[in-house]
Amino acid sequence: MLRELILATGNDHKIKEISSVLADKNIKIIPLTAFESFPKTIEDKKTLEENAIKKAREVALFFNKWAVADDSGLEVDLLGGEPGVYSARYAGENCSYDDNNNKLLKKLEGVPLEKRTAHFRCVIAIASPEGIVKTVSGKVNGYICEKKTGSGGFGYDPIFFIPQYNKTFAELSFSKKNKISHRAIALMKAKKIIASII
Ligand code: IMP
Repeated sequence: MLRELILATGNDHKIKEISSVLADKNIKIIPLTAFESFPKTIEDKKTLEENAIKKAREVALFFNKWAVADDSGLEVDLLGGEPGVYSARYAGENCSYDDNNNKLLKKLEGVPLEKRTAHFRCVIAIASPEGIVKTVSGKVNGYICEKKTGSGGFGYDPIFFIPQYNKTFAELSFSKKNKISHRAIALMKAKKIIASII
């Protein structure tokens, strides 16, 4: 039987990355953008976990179907985990990816590479309309480089450098990023849960 899972995000980059990892002949993944109206979750929680659960729950209740949501962020060690849960709006409400990258680069101006350690973290929440909620997470370590490099991906990808590949996320191909990223790691775990419960 073909089962349906609503993908609780309107972010095209995330839709592409998540759909590609979760693709399965038994599951139909429907992004929020396929609907004319849907709940716009206010991401006002203090942790990625809480925001991911809030998004998945609201969407599962609204459509009366299982839903999956992602909340992710970049955590820079020297800045005590900033921007973290505020990654999307680090440079202010309605700011662009470029504004966020510029703000972070400015904050780290003059800091040597070995002190520019950071990680991306992603929490995936899977929720049923009846109130079942499961979460999984993924993390990838890297460095914040000194200037934007590469044109792929989105968000902080051009300034997130992965030493194993000697490249930023924005320089990796879509399929490579989607095998090693924080989101890919969390999604592989989510895929197993989805297969067993939905
Ligand atoms: P949210 O999960 O929609 O709250 O947004 C998190 C923010 O973190 C995004 O707007 C991006 O700026 C950033 N982000 C999350 N995942 C990635 C990624 O894979 N690459 C680059 N930036 C990301």
